[in-house]
Amino acid sequence: MDFAWTSHRFSGGALALDVANSVILREDPLRSTDRFAVPAQLEAFPDAAARFCAERALFGASTPPAPAEAPAFLALREAIDGYFRSKVMSGEPPVHLLADLLEATAIVLRRAPKGSLASATAHSALRLLAEVESDRLKICGQCGWLFIDRSRNRSRAWCDMAVCGNRAKASRHYHRRKTETAA
Ligand SMILES: [Zn+2]
Repeated sequence: MDFAWTSHRFSGGALALDVANSVILREDPLRSTDRFAVPAQLEAFPDAAARFCAERALFGASTPPAPAEAPAFLALREAIDGYFRSKVMSGEPPVHLLADLLEATAIVLRRAPKGSLASATAHSALRLLAEVESDRLKICGQCGWLFIDRSRNRSRAWCDMAVCGNRAKASRHYHRRKTETAA
């Protein structure tokens, strides 16, 4: 299967969200895909992040997690998604999700080498926790990715207009045509 970490895959606006978004269609168990389940794709992620991620300045040596460190890194990814997705959906995530996130962050910070992908992701998550304004944190209406809406009027509905925005437009068009034909 052909797969590349294109700039589109770094639409989150923060490293922590781009990492969380490595699971595609998370909400749909039948179509959901974990890009990091393929070791080569996890290996290739830091180089692409160093090029495309909005927070590429966080990186030192952008090394992927060593196999022994991968479970802690993936646990951090799940905690990031759990907390910030809940924040978008409910406004006030339950305190256990915050505890999970802080715990997972602490474990990575204790173990991961400075400047590594895991360590940079932990820093990004803490930064997001402290700084992101609730009405800028969003879930893409098309693909379910988390992203930061930095637009002036905070009206972005898609992680990436060129991909998800166009897909949504095409699907609206298709349904309109279908309704017209049926009528
Ligand atoms: Zn999207």
